[in-house]
Amino acid sequence: MSEAVTASQADEKLLIQRAYKKLLRAIKSPLSKEDKQNMRKAYELAVSAHSQQRRKSGEPYVLHPIAVATICAEEIGLGPTAIIAALLHDVVEDTDITLKDIQQMFGERIAKIVDGLTKLDSAYNIESPQAENFKKVLSTLVEDVRVVLIKMADRLHNLRTISSMPQHKQLKIAAETNYIYEPLAHRLGLYNFKTEFLDISMKIKEPEQYHEIARKLQETKRDRTRYVNEFIRPLTDKLDEMGVPYRIFGRPKSIFSIWNKIRSKRVPFEEIYDLFAIRIVVDVPPDKEKLICWQVYSIVTDVHKPIPERLKDWITVPKSNGYESLHTTVIGPKGRFVEVQIRTERMDEIAERGFAAHWKYKGVSKQPDVYERWLDSVREILEDPTSDAVQFLGDFKSNNLFNEEIFVYTPKGDMIILPKGATALDFAFHIHSDVGYHCTAISVNSKLVPMGYKLNNGDQLKVVTNKNQKPNEDWLNMVVTGKARAKIRSAMKEERKVKGQLGREALERKLKNLKIAAFEPAVEAMVKFYGFSSHIDLYYAIYTEQLTIPEIFKNFREEDRKLVQISKELREEAPTPPPGSGELSARKATRKKVLGKPRLLINGEPGERFEYHFATCCNPVQGDQVFAYLTSNAGLKIHRINCPNATNLIANYGYRIMKAEWIITPNASFVAEVKITGIDDGPGVIEQLTHRISSMLGLNIRSFSIEGNEGYFEGIISLLVTNTDQLNIAIKSLQNLQSVSSVTRIE
Ligand code: MN
Repeated sequence: MSEAVTASQADEKLLIQRAYKKLLRAIKSPLSKEDKQNMRKAYELAVSAHSQQRRKSGEPYVLHPIAVATICAEEIGLGPTAIIAALLHDVVEDTDITLKDIQQMFGERIAKIVDGLTKLDSAYNIESPQAENFKKVLSTLVEDVRVVLIKMADRLHNLRTISSMPQHKQLKIAAETNYIYEPLAHRLGLYNFKTEFLDISMKIKEPEQYHEIARKLQETKRDRTRYVNEFIRPLTDKLDEMGVPYRIFGRPKSIFSIWNKIRSKRVPFEEIYDLFAIRIVVDVPPDKEKLICWQVYSIVTDVHKPIPERLKDWITVPKSNGYESLHTTVIGPKGRFVEVQIRTERMDEIAERGFAAHWKYKGVSKQPDVYERWLDSVREILEDPTSDAVQFLGDFKSNNLFNEEIFVYTPKGDMIILPKGATALDFAFHIHSDVGYHCTAISVNSKLVPMGYKLNNGDQLKVVTNKNQKPNEDWLNMVVTGKARAKIRSAMKEERKVKGQLGREALERKLKNLKIAAFEPAVEAMVKFYGFSSHIDLYYAIYTEQLTIPEIFKNFREEDRKLVQISKELREEAPTPPPGSGELSARKATRKKVLGKPRLLINGEPGERFEYHFATCCNPVQGDQVFAYLTSNAGLKIHRINCPNATNLIANYGYRIMKAEWIITPNASFVAEVKITGIDDGPGVIEQLTHRISSMLGLNIRSFSIEGNEGYFEGIISLLVTNTDQLNIAIKSLQNLQSVSSVTRIE
């Protein structure tokens, strides 16, 4: 018995040593003697510290940090500092070793990285909300990008070995990977990571489709190889003639990307021809790169006819994550479309290994430092003191920090770089926050545009300001950059505070009259009763008369110089208040949007059994695709599938999501908000719109706000409709009006 234990212990020791040898072989950069010693020391420390732990699969735990270090070396190309930190990444969290020990043994830098990694991990353990988590990931990112790169390697190894985890954990990890790590990998140019993240999470979430595509790829492999050879054969002679070393090969596309195509194009696997791309990688000195790549392009297109619209030149203008390559699609044998990627070894390494490789080649390519610029914009949002984690995440996602950029120009011809999707108002805030605050009109290429106008590459902008202008809440919908959003939000906050002060004073006077002594507890009780999120919101509501003081005192009264709530029964005995005030609190009044009694099936059962409300962030209308989300205190909330909050909810609280389907209710009534923009060509616009809606379409308008600006108007109309058909008809009909240029449903 004991012999068996020792035998397996010896086996395990061998396994661990073998893994370490593999790590050493994977290191490509030359190591100093000190590096080697430190690495050995880190390895030994990890082995002894984790000696009592096992992974879910039963393996010795230390194989995990060794594998993570190997990924760092082999697949990201990181150097000794990061490799040592990777070996130690779970030591402080899981064992008796302290950060101080690490610092004494390996120095400040490595201790800092390990600390960053430990903090990231503990954030997961306490299951803190995802947004907070994400903010942490990014704060460490701007401090030392290696922390995030090691974290990526950690995540990748955990995904590769995920099969020993229980199903529900797998799903959570997959959602989190799609939510944070996949877009981050994209932004850091770690394409291989991104592909593997997507493939593995698909395997978890859609195992049947995954295995089916994998099987079909396997079955068609021989045909594909034959085809690739047929494609390459006529090219090789001409490529040889160039006298430049090159590699040419077919690269299969990822299972996820094939599946994506099947879904989006609605074609069966058998009809997808671009299951692979041809890649040609040339080995040339930096000053010859562009010339030779275009020479290769010319050789390829001499043999195979190109489709000119599919030409993408990311060599002249690289992508904002540093990607450089020349892509084209040509018509290959049998008339099939084949994508060809042309690049140099340097470009290939950057494309495969991202960030680390990029820094290695810093200064080689002529492109401005795309990473620095991106990190700056991340820093900018992180440093905004007014944004909390959830807002931050929204900013981050909508700010398109993951996406590409556009180039626009000032009247003097200076180039300004903004994220794709940025608006004219974003531009104004980018120039200067004061220009943003006081912006009254913007012209693009000498034509006046609405402030929310989406910019295109090459636009030239001019901003008109007026010192009396100031931001309002609606402006938040007209910008996408974090900077503009933060500035508008803080201006709004300031405004609310100032105006709220007047509301507060009114309330103070009233409480004084009633001889209520303690102001704070009284206000606290009101905030709670009406469900405001802060005192300022209450004061502001009083100021704007959304909630009047007489209304408040239908629910509260004085007793022993204290504020007490009037019980429900007593309130009901009181005379019925006039319509439009009283019984319903301000909050309920605005929330009570659904007038008819719409019915839903929740998880296949009649929804009457549940308490449910319609989410106000997306205002679902009968006919929309919806899901139910179980809130912690307010029953079920029905959201639209494409609600801006949906991804977040599904990623983080998957266990609270329920299926919801409509039971068609003919007389139900839903609120739908539409935004209308157009040209204000006289006083008749409002009449035109209301006439169309009320008289011609027979719909009720719940509220209507419109604002004109320099010949443009923008209005928000809240309509009562029975279902999405009715809403779509209304949108179409409004669109047909002369002066209307766009009608969109507000998401
Ligand atoms: Mn780990």
